[in-house]
Amino acid sequence: LRRNAGETEFHQAVEEVLESLGLVVAKHPQYMDNALIERICEPERQIIFRVPWVDDKGQTHINRGFRVQFNSALGPYKGGLRFHPSVNVGIIKFLGFEQTFKNALTGLPIGGGKGGSDFNPRDRSDGEIMRFCQSFMTELYRHLGEYTDVPAGDIGVGAREIGYLFGQYKRLTNRYEAGVLTGKGLIYGGSRARTEATGYGAVYFVDQMLKTRGESLEGKRAVVSGSGNVAIFAIEKIKEFGGKAVACSDSSGYIVDDEGIDLDLLKEIKLVRRERISEYARLKGAGAYFVEQGVVWDVPCEVALPSATQNELNGNDAATLIRNGVVAVGEGANMPCTPEAVRLFQNANILFGPAKAANAGGVATSALEMQQNASRDSWTFEETEARLAAIMRRIHDSCAETAEEYGAPGNYVLGANITGFVRVAEAMEAMGVI
Ligand code: NDP
Repeated sequence: LRRNAGETEFHQAVEEVLESLGLVVAKHPQYMDNALIERICEPERQIIFRVPWVDDKGQTHINRGFRVQFNSALGPYKGGLRFHPSVNVGIIKFLGFEQTFKNALTGLPIGGGKGGSDFNPRDRSDGEIMRFCQSFMTELYRHLGEYTDVPAGDIGVGAREIGYLFGQYKRLTNRYEAGVLTGKGLIYGGSRARTEATGYGAVYFVDQMLKTRGESLEGKRAVVSGSGNVAIFAIEKIKEFGGKAVACSDSSGYIVDDEGIDLDLLKEIKLVRRERISEYARLKGAGAYFVEQGVVWDVPCEVALPSATQNELNGNDAATLIRNGVVAVGEGANMPCTPEAVRLFQNANILFGPAKAANAGGVATSALEMQQNASRDSWTFEETEARLAAIMRRIHDSCAETAEEYGAPGNYVLGANITGFVRVAEAMEAMGVI
């Protein structure tokens, strides 16, 4: 704790994994040798840098950039960039730590990393976003490479930002190294289904969990928090599976539409016009309403997919959801449920899919993008989505089998933590003290 003073989210993420490891260490005492667990908790490298940029009025701003290269035992560092005013080193470290185990769970050759900036992209013009991205990459490029570190998007970083970042990387290195970033546009090396992958993957995971109880999404009411990349495509897949997403949110409040969210309208507002979620209720009219600063978890549902940000669903929210009859919760965002909320879900025997497993579809598809770039190939949407679905099934099954093996059937938190940890630990052990 003293080594990482004030890094609350990082402590929370490490504690959650360490709680699961007692059983592993009892079975494999060698993991206590050579400070393996301590090494796994220490990032290999952290880079913090100045990002100066000039706004449209000619005024200069300074933001802070971060890249935490957490673990490269299984492959190049891989993980998104987040642009949000709340970003600090503790948040990036928690995300990088989680990412290491998540990436291990995909079974693909990728290590863990994360980065970003405290830059707030809200209400910034295209030109300002471009200049910021260019300045950010002007420092970061020297730390990246398809065999070294491969960033992607996260909160505040979508296809537009990845385009500006890639353009600057190409310019600085004079190399067309497509595999250095993922989440690229289709015209210059992106993968089909990458945009949809995290949201779709989370729904595949929930579907797999429901199947273990002989249930499905058919006819179920769902609530999804956020209305960004993950949330939008989770809502889309819920509909394809026969469910009905009735509410979603942003940081200003939530909307409810009992007819089921109109996806075309939602995409138009969020992806094209980049407006607030309240616009949905205004444009949809009858049947839909907006609750300013409301808590979306107050809306009754059977399936909940927190897909906005960390610690957005607390113990009170979990109790409300349980009272209202929730049967399954899948974490679309990273660590959206507080430890108390997770305990309540587990004690109430609610199916609970932790982020490491449930939202791994995004990074898995990023790894598929890297495969396509390496072979200078481009797969169809159907082929890529079929691979994503198979990966999500494998992740689900390996978590379920590990939970069973360690005497806690149905405990996906334990299953995900142990499976991810053992894969990273075995690779590190094989490589000596690194
Ligand atoms: P986006 O930026 O596309 O969307 C984020 C959404 O969450 C927005 O609607 C935003 O609302 C809302 N939000 C953010 N912060 C808060 C807050 N403090 N309170 C309430 N709402 C908030 O991000 P993504 O959809 O890409 O990411 C969402 C989550 O999913 C993050 O935890 C991310 O780490 C995780 N994730 C994303 C992956 C991806 O492929 N994109 C992969 C795996 C995990 P507003 O606009 O008002 O801020």
